[in-house]
Amino acid sequence: MLKRIFIFFIIFIYFHDLFAKTKYNLQTPFPVVDLELIDNNISACDDFYKFSCGKWINKTKIPDDETSWYRFSEIDLKTEKLLTQILTNYKNGNYTPKIKYAKKLGDLYNSCMDTDQIYKDGFKNLNFLISKIESINSSKDFANATAELQRLGVDVLFAFFTEQDNTDATKIQPYLTASGIGMPEKKYYEDTTPSGVELIQKYKLHMLNSLKLSKLFTDNEAEKAADFIFEFETKLASYSLSLEDQIDPNALNNQRTFSELVNLSPTFQWDAFFNKLGLNSFTKSKTKKLNIMDLHFFEGLNIILKNTSLNDLKYYLVWKVISTNATFISKELYNEHFNFFNKILYGQKSEPERSKKCLMNVNLLLGDALGEAFIKVAFGEEQKKYVSDLSQQIIKEMREVVANSDWIDSETQLGAEKKLITLSKKIGYPNKFTNYDNLQIKSTSFFENYINGHAFSYDQMVQRIARPVDRSRWDMNPHENNAYYNPSLNEIVFPAGTLQSPLFNLLSSDAANIGATGSVIGHELTHGFDNQGREYDENGNLQNWWSPTVEFEFKKKSQCLIDQYNKYTIVDNQDPNVPKQEDNPKFHINGEVTLGENIADLGGLKLALNTYLKSNPNAFDDISEINHGYSNAQILFISYAQSWCSKSTFESLLNQVIIDEHSPSEFRVNGVVSNMPEFAKAFNCKSGQKMNPENKCSVW
Ligand SMILES: [Zn+2]
Repeated sequence: MLKRIFIFFIIFIYFHDLFAKTKYNLQTPFPVVDLELIDNNISACDDFYKFSCGKWINKTKIPDDETSWYRFSEIDLKTEKLLTQILTNYKNGNYTPKIKYAKKLGDLYNSCMDTDQIYKDGFKNLNFLISKIESINSSKDFANATAELQRLGVDVLFAFFTEQDNTDATKIQPYLTASGIGMPEKKYYEDTTPSGVELIQKYKLHMLNSLKLSKLFTDNEAEKAADFIFEFETKLASYSLSLEDQIDPNALNNQRTFSELVNLSPTFQWDAFFNKLGLNSFTKSKTKKLNIMDLHFFEGLNIILKNTSLNDLKYYLVWKVISTNATFISKELYNEHFNFFNKILYGQKSEPERSKKCLMNVNLLLGDALGEAFIKVAFGEEQKKYVSDLSQQIIKEMREVVANSDWIDSETQLGAEKKLITLSKKIGYPNKFTNYDNLQIKSTSFFENYINGHAFSYDQMVQRIARPVDRSRWDMNPHENNAYYNPSLNEIVFPAGTLQSPLFNLLSSDAANIGATGSVIGHELTHGFDNQGREYDENGNLQNWWSPTVEFEFKKKSQCLIDQYNKYTIVDNQDPNVPKQEDNPKFHINGEVTLGENIADLGGLKLALNTYLKSNPNAFDDISEINHGYSNAQILFISYAQSWCSKSTFESLLNQVIIDEHSPSEFRVNGVVSNMPEFAKAFNCKSGQKMNPENKCSVW
């Protein structure tokens, strides 16, 4: 919940790997639509996802070092291969393509590849971090250490970050929210099903093993510490908000002064924490506000801290340091970490190659610099122009939808219209890249680079408070294969990395490109008008512009989607021994939590189709040889569905259902097309067939 932007999808992969040894060729015309993947044994009107992706699913195996694999993962493979080549050049002193930070990139990559050196320094690295905990003798020291560890990338106790003020989007303010637990979400600590209890046992064992491997404790002490730490995390989790509680942005907007924070949670030395970050002006001010996203958590944190000794708190900090930095300490500790977080939790079979992990670390620490290199070799102005024009048409289409809706009154129409007129779009890459002049990078010590890199971005984040809002800032790297809507800036953002085959290809037809990429543009745009985005006005402020009657209608329309998605369940096709899961609520899609994404998926595809129909009114009838007997409307739908062909380990799918607001791929396709009469028309589906139910949901 750190970022309040709405991203297009989340893939729970720790590292990608270059398993395919195919040659990288920027000119390869990888088709957006691949009719060879269609399974003609399945009727499009019964299961459109399986119809469109059937043969892809049959022939695709999830790579052992991945937890899910998408058809669009081909993009990631291509990008990874290219970037690895560039980083290898830089590492070897060959600075092509020429960019400002080529040497820093090469040095960082070189230091990361040198695992011998990393493990040689392993316990020295650990001691450096532990020394910050050992010196704690007072609650003030504890607050100082909390600030210092967070700055170095260790997630302890709660999260602090800066973002635009929800009540005045021209300003940046501090935010506080729950964090500091090891398992992905509070539900994991409270799961009483047999598989849930088993997972908890495995987590506790992992904790114990890690503490022993750190060589900081005797076996007895490690056991005592593990019991305490798990209990401590369980308490933190119990005060954290559930995903359901985090849906309404108004509930997460709690503007408080510093003294109100101190009253809410007096045991923690907030003045020491804020002063350590250089935010003394906040501790002294009677008027400056910060946003305490979940008040209940900070009340609870106070109770927890009041009842825990300083000595026990140190155990918790030590555990967080070990867990976060396992990869820097020893191979045994890293293996232990990988075994729980990747293998057990997500079903990842094997570890990726070192080069892939290092690419990920470069993305994390110097991502924007690497993005500049990527743009130089892999992105053209033609792509940018096509997508920019298409976005413009889709925004225009949305304006028509609003103007022609019979359920929106003129007052609310005006609010929506203002949002659409002011909406900005960012395509490809930022106008200015991040300045890394003050980030020290050595070619020899990856640990130091990692720590410095974290501190560098943390300091930048803190310093933003004093500056005007930077509207040119991006929240994704230019080479990332993803997209987002940011309600505070009222902007849609499409990095160059996602505008590649098989999601986008200038050699493919408009129907194919608009089905795959147009629907993404529509999706991000619709986020501005989903159950969360609609709470923000055209300036990015949380301000209601809805009349009560229109709001009532919106909620009624949304309820239809909630009920629809609540009925979907996941099944483990790969393991017939897993008992029938329909009865277990944890295998159900959560219609409420996924509502915003489902509204955006439905709105996105509708906008894409209607935009295409504007210039191709005969799309339902124009069956052509080029399309092998399909009409262009059919191609557009197939293109959309094929952009979602995917396979996941069951563990990964289960985690997605529990913690991700995005529905699994199958439902992102079937849930959407079964709500569209245009789909039934395109594929001649009879009324009552699965993809053409009588009851259809519609929001936008
Ligand atoms: Zn989304």
